[in-house]
Amino acid sequence: MVLENLSNSLKETLKKITKAIFVDETLINELVKDIQKALLKSDVNVKLVLELTNKIKKRALEEKTPSSINQKEHLVRIVYEELVKFLGSEQKGINILAKKPFKIMFVGLFGSGKTTSIAKIAKYYSKRGFKVGILGLDIHRPAAMAQIEQLGNQINVPIFIDKKEKNALNIYKKYKNDLDKFDIVLIDTAGRDALSEDLIEEINNINNEIKPEERILVISADIGQTAQEQATKFHETCNITGVLITKMDGTAKGGGALSACAITQAPVKFIGVGEKIEDLEEFNPDGFVSRLLGMGDLKALLEKTREAIDDEQAEKLGKRMIGGEFNFIDLYEQMEAMQKMGPLNKIVDLIPGMGNMNIPKEMLNVQEEKLKKWKFIMNSCTKEELENPDIITRTRIDRIANGSGTTAREVRELLKQYKQSKKMMKLFKGSSKDTDINKLMKKFKGKGMRMAY
Ligand code: GDP
Ligand code: MG
Repeated sequence: MVLENLSNSLKETLKKITKAIFVDETLINELVKDIQKALLKSDVNVKLVLELTNKIKKRALEEKTPSSINQKEHLVRIVYEELVKFLGSEQKGINILAKKPFKIMFVGLFGSGKTTSIAKIAKYYSKRGFKVGILGLDIHRPAAMAQIEQLGNQINVPIFIDKKEKNALNIYKKYKNDLDKFDIVLIDTAGRDALSEDLIEEINNINNEIKPEERILVISADIGQTAQEQATKFHETCNITGVLITKMDGTAKGGGALSACAITQAPVKFIGVGEKIEDLEEFNPDGFVSRLLGMGDLKALLEKTREAIDDEQAEKLGKRMIGGEFNFIDLYEQMEAMQKMGPLNKIVDLIPGMGNMNIPKEMLNVQEEKLKKWKFIMNSCTKEELENPDIITRTRIDRIANGSGTTAREVRELLKQYKQSKKMMKLFKGSSKDTDINKLMKKFKGKGMRMAY
């Protein structure tokens, strides 16, 4: 997952709370030290780290534990809440208004990931039913137009560019009428190696003419806490409304970039988590922290599900997954849907509790080939067997293998996978869609599930 090292350290820290016999000052001090170490390693600013951990310590020592939870749970809650506040509290994505076209301009230094992110966002919103167009105004880099053209074809979104024109505003004027027909227009701009006078002028000229509803600064996570300086400068000179942090997948410094941007006036709205078009997430501090602490992020999971399958399917799958009812058909549908959502190892972190279970890699790498075989095997099962695979006997395994052109080993493997998944689904039985951490904690309590706390 993103910020894997930070996440692992934080999970270890929370485990210490679970193991402790009682909550006292020594435990709190140790907890605070651990959190400090973990955050500093992910390049969070020292001053910010101290501020945050002092708050945690103060609350842990002074606050009375509410009667509904025990002291340890209260301590975990304080850590969770303070981390969420630290990352900007309630902020959530971009609020697309009914105004048509809703224009979002992307600015940032050369190579920060503007063009790639625009393609990701275009796909993100077209999947949600918006009519999206992209306006390419990077007139400086000769390859920029070709890059955006290629991305546009890939995601099937109309691109408005002019390879010969050397004036960005002329390109806009040329297409203005066409662009008015879109719900959302994403505007790609040119970057420089550093924030320079001419870049500011260029951005401001475009800004004044086009008057975009949102101006998003794109920053690469690998610059760590220096992101604050960039975010502040861009904010002061170009009046940005939000930040998109890219390359969160490729650096241990992401914590620095995230926290640094979160404290500027322009909040983090999206994060880029890979090179592929799907590798984009709306940034929600509460879900993000839940995931870091190994508590899952159901909201993000449902969003991802919605992208991969239609609403009806998503609802059915969600209900099954949460309800604990489970058979072969569900297993197949679930694996198929999850494959569409992206690599399974990216999905499991979103499921409450799963981030902490060391799920074997093999289980996450269910290949397409395997799915195909499963389909053959399932085709050779009776209706009763599909609905209740537990009744499949050894003789039936051989017959099914014969009938489907697979081996008995493969049939047994499917059965094993089914049993494992069913067991896991049972653990979620009764957990609602609620992401409120305390409610979740209560639900999971006493279910024999090893959570971080
Ligand atoms: P621009 O100059 O700001 O338009 O940057 P580009 O969109 O051309 O991206 C520069 C490089 O960063 C490309 O190689 C992208 O594939 C890569 N990139 C962008 N976003 C991400 C991300 O979230 N993760 C990773 N690993 N690479 C990214
Ligand atoms: Mg570009």
